[in-house]
Amino acid sequence: MSDRSPAPGVIFLGGLGRSGTTLLERLLGESPGVTPLGEVVHLWARGVLSGEPCGCGAVFTECAFWRAVGARAFGGWTAELAERVLCLRQRVDRTRRIPSLGHTDLPEYVAAYRRVYAAAAAVGGARLVIDSSKHASLAGCLAAGGVAVRVVHVVRDPRAVAHSWRRNVERPEDGRPMTRWGPVRTSLHWTAQNLALGLLGRRGVPVVRVRYEDLLADPRATLGALAAELGLDPAFSHVRGTTAELGRAHTVSGNPMRFTVGRVELSRDDTWHTALPRSHRRLVTTLTLPLMSRYGYPMAPTEEAA
Ligand SMILES: [Zn+2]
Repeated sequence: MSDRSPAPGVIFLGGLGRSGTTLLERLLGESPGVTPLGEVVHLWARGVLSGEPCGCGAVFTECAFWRAVGARAFGGWTAELAERVLCLRQRVDRTRRIPSLGHTDLPEYVAAYRRVYAAAAAVGGARLVIDSSKHASLAGCLAAGGVAVRVVHVVRDPRAVAHSWRRNVERPEDGRPMTRWGPVRTSLHWTAQNLALGLLGRRGVPVVRVRYEDLLADPRATLGALAAELGLDPAFSHVRGTTAELGRAHTVSGNPMRFTVGRVELSRDDTWHTALPRSHRRLVTTLTLPLMSRYGYPMAPTEEAA
């Protein structure tokens, strides 16, 4: 069960779903010395127990990368291990609670992640791993448990996020529809998740915030600024103007674009300007206004800042 690999640094991508964390992970994950892992929080249920596909296309249990990681970290993946971690998660890793240092189950829970990160860095030949699990509560657990975690807090205009959550999208993993939320639910989750990530920063966890819109407006400048904060190679030779060349990545879970390989256009999707019903737009704007303003999103979209 032991892994003597040196502990890698962990870049944790946080934010509400549909805010661009998967795209950012893919872009940062092409940097030398970095191994992107996808949403590790879902490794236990969707990977180990359900055998959903890895970003490379192979089912989790047959992916050579994850087999090697499991063997190195735990002597192989087992249902007992996954169920144990899921049980611990119920106790210590709750969305609405930033954990305290004193929880008795915290060390065992964090140790499982620490083993995954160390083994993945060793197998991937990396000094840094990216976990795009998104939830502030897991980032809080990792930091409280002593993991060298740096949080990248990704925010996106809540009206664009609300538009994304109301759309019909099929999960490529199993063909089932992805979860859909209405405007009120999206607004409440958007506010709660962003507040929780901001709170981490005030508790001493290193947090750097990035707006999805800024990433797409000037990918190289935004990635360069992040590279300086995170100690990454600033070259980003896979990004030219507004196109990026993406290789295969062993991401365990995440948004469907984790399967994308090859050239991608980094263009902003502003369809919410016209496609999000006016009543939804007003509702989301009203419910998220204080935080929306703090992040610099205008009440009415303009060509430059919407
Ligand atoms: Zn794979």
